[in-house]
Amino acid sequence: MTLSLRMKAVVIAGGWMALAAGSMVAVDSLVLTRTYAAALDSRAAAVTTVIRLQLEQALRAGMPLESLAGLQEQLQDSTRAGDGIGDILVAAPDGRILFHSDPAKIGRSIDQPALLEAVRTAAPAAGGRLVREGDGQESEASIAPAFDGQGRYRASVVVEVPTRLVAAEARRLAALNGALGLALLAAGLAAILAGLSAAVTRPLERITRTIGDMRGHPEDLSRRLAVPPQGVAAQLADAFNELIGELQGTMVPRAQLEHSATHDALTGLPNRILLRDRLSSALAYARRYGRRATVAFIDLDNFKVINDSLGHDRGDAFLKTVAERLAGSVRDVDTVARFGGDEFIVVLFDQPDQSSKAVPMIARIQDAISQPVVLGGQQYSLTPSIGIATYPQDGTDIETLLRNADAAMYRAKELGRNNCQAYSEDLHTRIAERLALLNELRLAVERREFVVHYEPQVDLRSGRIVAVEALVRWNHPQRGLVPPDHFIPEAEETGLILPIGEHVLRTACAQAKAWQTAGLPPLRMAVNLSSRQFWQPGLLQLVESALHDAGLDAAWLELELTESLIMRGVEEAVRTMRALRAMGVGLAIDDFGTGYSSLSSLKRFPIGRLKIAQQFMHEVPADADSVAIAEAVIALGHNMRHSVIAEGVETVEQLRFLAQKGCDGIQGYLVSRAVPPEEIPALVRTTHIDALAGDAVR
Ligand code: C2E
Ligand code: CA
Repeated sequence: MTLSLRMKAVVIAGGWMALAAGSMVAVDSLVLTRTYAAALDSRAAAVTTVIRLQLEQALRAGMPLESLAGLQEQLQDSTRAGDGIGDILVAAPDGRILFHSDPAKIGRSIDQPALLEAVRTAAPAAGGRLVREGDGQESEASIAPAFDGQGRYRASVVVEVPTRLVAAEARRLAALNGALGLALLAAGLAAILAGLSAAVTRPLERITRTIGDMRGHPEDLSRRLAVPPQGVAAQLADAFNELIGELQGTMVPRAQLEHSATHDALTGLPNRILLRDRLSSALAYARRYGRRATVAFIDLDNFKVINDSLGHDRGDAFLKTVAERLAGSVRDVDTVARFGGDEFIVVLFDQPDQSSKAVPMIARIQDAISQPVVLGGQQYSLTPSIGIATYPQDGTDIETLLRNADAAMYRAKELGRNNCQAYSEDLHTRIAERLALLNELRLAVERREFVVHYEPQVDLRSGRIVAVEALVRWNHPQRGLVPPDHFIPEAEETGLILPIGEHVLRTACAQAKAWQTAGLPPLRMAVNLSSRQFWQPGLLQLVESALHDAGLDAAWLELELTESLIMRGVEEAVRTMRALRAMGVGLAIDDFGTGYSSLSSLKRFPIGRLKIAQQFMHEVPADADSVAIAEAVIALGHNMRHSVIAEGVETVEQLRFLAQKGCDGIQGYLVSRAVPPEEIPALVRTTHIDALAGDAVR
């Protein structure tokens, strides 16, 4: 019945606003359009907190709201897909919508002409601008004025989440907000009453009286209105009774209610609400007795891969296991909470008789999480990135400690994941730089600022260049050529690696074909695939289309994969690799020796080549261990009938050593650095490596 639905909507809004007023500090108001996942479910609360934290970071960094687009992706990364993070809209206090993080959705979710008009008129005055204005779906959201000049944020955030959650959440919320809901309901009814004609006044008065009585006893939902024979009053009473019936149905015993309001439904761990409570006690204690308290922010590396490739059920199972292990690796006095998605918070109490137990405890946590988890008969392991903030030096209140631990966690991610970082003052500068980078990176994709250079690979038998490896560079308008190590990790994290990787793949295929057409002896083209690229759903079609569009025979393409990427899900990986092989595409294992593939799974990889990781080459032939590893990789590769190529070969000694051990190929500065495509033909014609003489002859 429409009437009752509308009333429920009022209840929802009321409940949310109350919650929002209590928890939103920096943002003027938080409005949820359509509906929201679960205001009282830890996840939605966590999501809004994450948004707020990130907004605050953006503010500190003086970032334009453009960076929110990147933020959304990050948010999606830091929670599970489908967690209910919809779009981030930023609306000015006067109701104008100023920013929408997903331009493609503007047409669907909001009144586009009105948006553009608002932006056109409002943005210049506030220092914003219209990024791109096109027709219908093409138009891009605008940039919002974000600050009021005193460093305060002057806009609000609108989070959209799927509508299907409305009904269930309305009931839950209504149950928890019974009193408030009834008050609002009565207010709504009173308003309706005022507008009705005198003919229905009497039954309505009766209804109002009854509601008035009920307002004094919000817990007692057993009462019902007498329904008049017909008319608006009858509909109203019906709707009211229906609503009260639903509220009653959702009433649960108080203890259970309290537990579900303070614990995460999936893992049973304390949720954000209880976390704050515990943290506040820990801080009070530490303050009083001059102790320390440590907040560890734990995020699983690449959890999205598990979710995307194995499905949410297994993703959930994985999280549950991690939660159990976390809880098992701390003391009773400590708190382990689920912060949202794949994020956990551990609060470590510093006890009087132990000066600091934090370090060994963190090591235990790392260890516990990294142990393989068995899902459907297969082993999967993920590592954690951990950020630590300690009371009192890194913050004296809950917000600051959480924010700083989060910042430290991001630093840990930046440093290649699977490590633990303590908070430090200069992290804020780093965060600002990182946000700037992410922002620029997004623009760089639009502006197509990526170029591909090619590093020759030499076949040691013929001494000739037979292949090149495509290596991407960012041609930055101010900074010049930026090496991939400076942006690939960020691109991987934000998902921007997908458009960048596609560009590299297509460019490389077209280039290989262009050299062939120009009459150069055909070269194998090696292209690196990152984890996200490999696990993306449309990978096979993408490779097929890149080859087809370039007119390149699949035999000339070789994809380089890392062991750790494959080990994330051996079964699925092998399936994808087989499909690629079936297309005729070659596969190589990159950086071999640095990952952790078991020999038994290595045997199952349908690959043609192993690449000895550069790091071993650096110390060959001086260091005995590196020599042993290089030798072992060559022998192992040959045993499995793979070709073996060494990367990072810089010296004649290394070349000689590799030739003696029967290595099939080399690449490295001894041959050439990666060069722009126009330099390759001359290199191919003039390079001849005489391995036995240990010479590079030009
Ligand atoms: P990688 O696949 O291990 O690539 C080899 C890296 O070592 C390249 O660095 C190359 O320039 C460098 N190198 C080559 N020979 C020598 C040498 O003799 N000595 C030394 N010290 N270094 C040498 P680059 O181009 O900076 O690439 C770094 C990494 O970025 C690559 O490591 C690869 O993992 C990633 N990457 C590069 N391009 C792409 C791409 O298009 N897609 C993806 N997903 N990753 C890429
Ligand atoms: Ca490579």
